[in-house]
Amino acid sequence: MTALTDVLSSQSGPPEHPDVVWHTEEAVLDAHRFDRSGWEPDVRPAVVAAARSVAGVQQVVRFAHRTGTPLVTRGAGTGLAGAATAIDGGIVLDLMGLDRILDIAADDELAVVEPGVLTADLDRAAARHGLRYAPDPASVEISTIGGNIATNAGGLRCAKYGVTRDAVLGLDVVLADGRLIHTGRRTIKGVAGYDLTSLFVGSEGTLGVIVGATLRLRPIPLATATIAAYFPDAPTAFAAIGAVRTAGVVPAVAEFIDGPTLQRIDEHLGTGLRARGAAFLLLQTDGAGAVAEAELAAAALRPYATDLAVTDDPAEGARLTAVRRAALPALERVGRVLIEDISVPRSRLPAAVAAVAAAAAATGTTIHTFAHAADGNLHPIVVLDGDQHLADPAVQEAADRVFRAALELGGTVSGEHGVGVLKRQWARAELGEDVDQLQRRVKAVFDPAGILNPGRAV
Ligand SMILES: Cc1cc2nc3c(=O)[nH]c(=O)nc-3n(C[C@H](O)[C@H](O)[C@H](O)COP(=O)(O)OP(=O)(O)OC[C@H]3O[C@@H](n4cnc5c(N)ncnc54)[C@H](O)[C@@H]3O)c2cc1C
Repeated sequence: MTALTDVLSSQSGPPEHPDVVWHTEEAVLDAHRFDRSGWEPDVRPAVVAAARSVAGVQQVVRFAHRTGTPLVTRGAGTGLAGAATAIDGGIVLDLMGLDRILDIAADDELAVVEPGVLTADLDRAAARHGLRYAPDPASVEISTIGGNIATNAGGLRCAKYGVTRDAVLGLDVVLADGRLIHTGRRTIKGVAGYDLTSLFVGSEGTLGVIVGATLRLRPIPLATATIAAYFPDAPTAFAAIGAVRTAGVVPAVAEFIDGPTLQRIDEHLGTGLRARGAAFLLLQTDGAGAVAEAELAAAALRPYATDLAVTDDPAEGARLTAVRRAALPALERVGRVLIEDISVPRSRLPAAVAAVAAAAAATGTTIHTFAHAADGNLHPIVVLDGDQHLADPAVQEAADRVFRAALELGGTVSGEHGVGVLKRQWARAELGEDVDQLQRRVKAVFDPAGILNPGRAV
C-alpha cells in the first residue's frame, strides 16, 4: 500500500483519466473542507478529485482502494451532519460534474439521472412532461440528487409523497474496490433479492458511491390549494393539525413555524406574520379535489386559529411556501446556527416543543423551532451568540437535552439530516449495542478496508 502523499509528490502522481481532474490547489482544498453543519474541524483533504463520468469515479475509487486512502464522496456540500466534511489527508470525490439527466420516461413516470444533478433541475425537467420529482428538501435549488439519496432527504411534500427513499427505484453504485453494480429496477414493484437499493439510501457515503439513480416521478397535481393559519401557541397549532387528520384530509404539505422564528422571518422579508399569531401552519392540499379538501381542513382549523386564509392562487401559494423556505436564512442572519433534526410520534409534538423550550431555558441558549408537522419532524435551531462556537458546553448540553427528549418521547435523533460525525454517539444510544454491531458488520461487507467515509454514520 502506498501513502497518498507519496503518490501526490511523486513524478507519476495520481492516475490520469480524461474525466478526472485532481486538484491540490489550496483554494479548491479549502472549498471542500466543510459542509453546512457549522462543524469545522482543523483538517484538510490531500486532494480533491473532480470526476465527470462513471469510469472516472471508478478510477478514483480504485486509487483510494490501492493506496488505502479515506475517500469522502461529496455532492453540493449542503449536508447538516458533518458527513461530507473532509478527512485529514484523504480524498474528496467531487461529483458535481456528473450532472446529466439521462432519461425521462414519461409513460413509465421515471427518470434516470447522474448524482450531481441539482434536485430542482430534475423537478423542472420533469415538469416539461407534466411530471414532478416529489421529494423537495428546502435545499432543492442547491443540493444534489446523489446527496439527497445518500442522506434520504425529506422535504415539504413528504407529508403526502414520502421521503427520498420512496422515490428511488434503482441505483448504480461504485463499490469500495471500484466495481460497478446495479440495484433495483425500472418497475414500481420488485422483490427479487434483498433491498440493497434501500440500504444505500441514507448510507451517507459509507457503503458505495452512487453514480446513477432511477427515480420515480409523479404527475403534477391538477390543482393545489394553500392555507396559512395562525395560532396563539404551538400546542394549539398541533391540536389543530390533529383535527385536520380527523376530518379525513391528508395534506401534501404541513409545516409549522414558532413565534420567534416568525419574528425573524418578518425582519428578513419585511412581512407582518408575527402580529397574526404566535405559531404558524402552512398547509397545502393537492389533486382534483384540492379546493374542497382545503375548505374541509380550514373548517377543522378555524376553531383553534387566531387568523386563517385559504387560496388556490398558485402565485400566492408559492409566496407562502417561500416564507417557510426563508425560515433558516432568516435565523442565519441573526447568528451562526446549529440545526437539529429530531422526529417524534406526531402525538408527542407538543411535548417535544416543550422539551426544546426547557433545554433552552436550562442552558441559557436561544433555540427556535420549525417543523414538518405531518411527519413529527422538528428542527430546533440553536442560534449562537456572538462568537459562541458549536463546541461551547452550553450549546452541546442544549443539543444533548434535545436528543435525550427525542428518545424519551419514542422518537429519533435524526429525521432527515443523517448521523454524520455529529450524532454518532446519539445514534448508538438510539439503536442499541446489537444493532450498532450489526451495522458495523454490514459496513465491513461493503467496505472491508474501511476507506469510504470512515468515522461517519456508523
Ligand atoms: C438551507 C438548507 C436547507 C436544507 N433543507 C433540508 C430539508 O428540507 N430536508 C433535508 O433532508 N435536508 C435539508 N438540508 C440538508 C442537505 O441539503 C441535505 O442533506 C442534502 O440531501 C445534501 O445534499 P448534498 O448534495 O449537498 O450532499 P453533501 O452535503 O455533499 O453530502 C451529504 C452526504 O451524502 C454523501 N454523498 C453525497 N453524494 C453522494 C453520492 N453520489 N454517493 C454516495 N454518497 C454521497 C456524502 O458523503 C455525505 O455523507 C438543508 C440544507 C440547507 C443548507
